[in-house]
Amino acid sequence: MGHYVYAFTEGSKEQKELLGGKGANLAEMTRLGLPVPPGFTISTEACRAYLATGELPDGLEQEIEVHLVALEKTMGRSLGDADDPLLVSVRSGAKFSMPGMMETVLDLGLNDESVLGLARASGSERFAFDSYRRLLQMFGATVLGIDSEAFAVELDKLKADRGVYADVDLGVADLRGLVATYQAVIRQRTGHDFPQNPREQVRAAVLAVFSSWRTERAVLYRRQEQIPDDLGTAVNVQAMVFGNRGSGSGSGVCFTRDPASGFKGVYGDYLADAQGEDVVAGIRNTVPLAELEALDRPSFDALIDVMSLLEHHYRDLCDIEFTIENGRLWILQTRVGKRTPEAAFRIAHAMAQEGMIDADEVLRRVTGSQLAQLLFPRFDPTAPRERLTTGVGASPGATSGRIALTSANAVAWGALGDDVVLVRRETNPDDLPGMIAARGVLTARGGKTSHAAVVARGMGRTCVCGAEQLDIDSERGQVRVSGHTLAEGEMVSIDGTTGEVFLGAVPVTDSEVLRHLEGTASDETAGDLVAAVRFVMDHADGVRRMEVRANADTVDDAARARRFGASGIGLCRTEHMFLGPRRELVERLILATDDAEKEAALAELLPLQRQDFTDLLAEMDGLPVTIRLIDPPLHEFLPDHTQLAVQVALEDDHGDRDARHHRLLDAVARLHEQNPMLGLRGVRLGIVVPGLVTMQARAVLEATADRLAAGGDPRPEIMIPLVATAPELVLVRAEIDAVAEAIRIERGLELPVRIGTMIEVPRAALTAHRIAGSADFFSFGTNDLTQMTWGFSRDDVESAFFSTYFDHGILPVSPFESIDEDGVGSLVTTAVRLGRETRPDLHLGVCGEHGGDPQSIHFFERAGLDYVSCSPFRVPVARLEAARARLV
Ligand code: PEP
Ligand code: MG
Repeated sequence: MGHYVYAFTEGSKEQKELLGGKGANLAEMTRLGLPVPPGFTISTEACRAYLATGELPDGLEQEIEVHLVALEKTMGRSLGDADDPLLVSVRSGAKFSMPGMMETVLDLGLNDESVLGLARASGSERFAFDSYRRLLQMFGATVLGIDSEAFAVELDKLKADRGVYADVDLGVADLRGLVATYQAVIRQRTGHDFPQNPREQVRAAVLAVFSSWRTERAVLYRRQEQIPDDLGTAVNVQAMVFGNRGSGSGSGVCFTRDPASGFKGVYGDYLADAQGEDVVAGIRNTVPLAELEALDRPSFDALIDVMSLLEHHYRDLCDIEFTIENGRLWILQTRVGKRTPEAAFRIAHAMAQEGMIDADEVLRRVTGSQLAQLLFPRFDPTAPRERLTTGVGASPGATSGRIALTSANAVAWGALGDDVVLVRRETNPDDLPGMIAARGVLTARGGKTSHAAVVARGMGRTCVCGAEQLDIDSERGQVRVSGHTLAEGEMVSIDGTTGEVFLGAVPVTDSEVLRHLEGTASDETAGDLVAAVRFVMDHADGVRRMEVRANADTVDDAARARRFGASGIGLCRTEHMFLGPRRELVERLILATDDAEKEAALAELLPLQRQDFTDLLAEMDGLPVTIRLIDPPLHEFLPDHTQLAVQVALEDDHGDRDARHHRLLDAVARLHEQNPMLGLRGVRLGIVVPGLVTMQARAVLEATADRLAAGGDPRPEIMIPLVATAPELVLVRAEIDAVAEAIRIERGLELPVRIGTMIEVPRAALTAHRIAGSADFFSFGTNDLTQMTWGFSRDDVESAFFSTYFDHGILPVSPFESIDEDGVGSLVTTAVRLGRETRPDLHLGVCGEHGGDPQSIHFFERAGLDYVSCSPFRVPVARLEAARARLV
């Protein structure tokens, strides 16, 4: 016979899987000798067996009976007794807490006879009949599936008849009548009488709790919280104690530290003459726990002792539910309590200082996403606000500003000192100046790897993208949304964590942790939260194996990344270096009809690029800087086709034919691609446009030589994007090697450069053993790798249809946010294995957006990468998670 039922005296807190969280902790407290009402737990194993077959597993009923008899013996009372009956509660309790999602039935054991016994034993007929009517109501609704309205209607009718407002104003006779009415409701709705046999009641309640694992709301909750569907729930059967036996009784909830701030103290709520359910339901106002001291000093002292004992035992913040019955304290539940991010850091640090936990344990107790929340400004939670719409939260933070519909306006107003939110349908590289000038970016299209999202994250600007309800009318200078028409210049607020967009300016509070981590605040102002974060970061740096680099394209970003603790640049996207005034040079390169023109354009670009790299290498002196050769399609550097066509047509009409504009229009038409993401970009561009790679390589290597000559320690890495097949890399690498050799001879210097490739095309991952033959390093470009593995356009799908995919449970989370381990992840591990087969010392990193995502970082640790690279603001989060990946 299987073993499905465990007395509280048998289990321990380690057995959450089998006994559920509540059951395991009840057993633990019983073992500790705390005053826990006796009882037993029916295991999750029994639930799984029941859910699989629709039948209780063999032997379970006999086991329950044995434990009920034992419980009756312990309590010296029996279920259904006509003199002094035992009452029990039946509660759900899964491995992971699912508050309010599953069923509970209280006061089981009452029937027409035992209710009289309870009245006698308790000396209160009112209490006994009130308990009975509560049982009928709960049992009817949860076990028998009767709409709870049916009971509520009867109660309201009775109160109206009696002219009273509150339940407590009903008299004994009223409650007796209500019991009869509820019994009639049950008979009428089910065709059966309420079961008078207490054992039958318990059995039915246990089945109801098992079944409640599958209710729609429970399924939905698990999907949202990513709790596996096949765990099942345990059921706890426990002797009832009563907090509603007059003023010497009551119920409450307490915390061993403040779950909001993490500070020590006496925190909790108490409600005299009430059941635990009344405290939670908020029917009457509770008083702060400290007031219990005056009401019932002995119980208060006993509770403080229990709190201290539990906190030391669990070595963590505990959240405790208790009941006082006629001056006697009972502990009904405890668990390690939920807390805010700031409380998590304070508590873990304080406990380490108190010697309760070691430094590794501190890292297990705080997460990267909690740290991220401490780094960004937040909207003042008490401030009123009106939400206009919700998009994709793409770069965290909270900000308000005047709506600017063009990059130019954002720049102009920013220069006046105004706070600006750049609002665009989508952004493109031309919007960069506006994005720099703005405090936040809001777009109507695009997901988490859209241009707006990637660039905003890189710069630490708050960003909400894909807010599809925004109707942006640049002509009229208006944005229409949710019945509002906002003129350009009006205020709007965006929350880059939740994706919410609010009307007007919502007040914001700044992050002191950010100022301290970034080194822009003086040590004297550092509070204990900053001290806690510093402690965590110091220890994380000692524990982690992977390096953390930053994706940074400018000297400012590089400097910030260094301040945040980056140990290099893992991705410098060079394309922005071709914008602004330099764009005209690229235009000339594209339009050149002979080699001389082409070379002239490249020759003008060379010194500009060289200066870019010299500055970057100087800023990151002594640290690796991975410079990626130009990636985006050429047409991005040319004017918009429609606008140009109109301009050319008008000029021709007015007899002002402009030959250069005609050539430009031809080039735009020629370079147009249906699928630019799959077109002439990355390494393909370098092969098709002669001289481009040589120019960029020369700029990097001359900058390196200059830095060496100046006594610096430059460590450039040249990275080739979008390689799909080894011959591409062989060709381009030969071109770079030739430049390096030429400069070595010209300058008489050995150049410390590594040449490697991105792995962002599935074919590259699958043929990594060949590609590694020409690469000193691989950097996984998981944005493109995800796009090409799934066939999902990274700019469109998130806002277009992912919400439907989430609703259907097809995707638990966007694969652009957290690496899809089964698919994209398997390409990564394949490429790691194949690459290192060819070259055991191959250096491996990741520079897609996943490099800053906690879950993905844990995967990259397992995959054996040497580093992750992410936006500068994400560096502290990645440092912490890289350490946690070794511990959890
Ligand atoms: C990538 O594809 O993951 C990557 C880092 O390159 P980009 O985002 O610039 O395409
Ligand atoms: Mg890419």
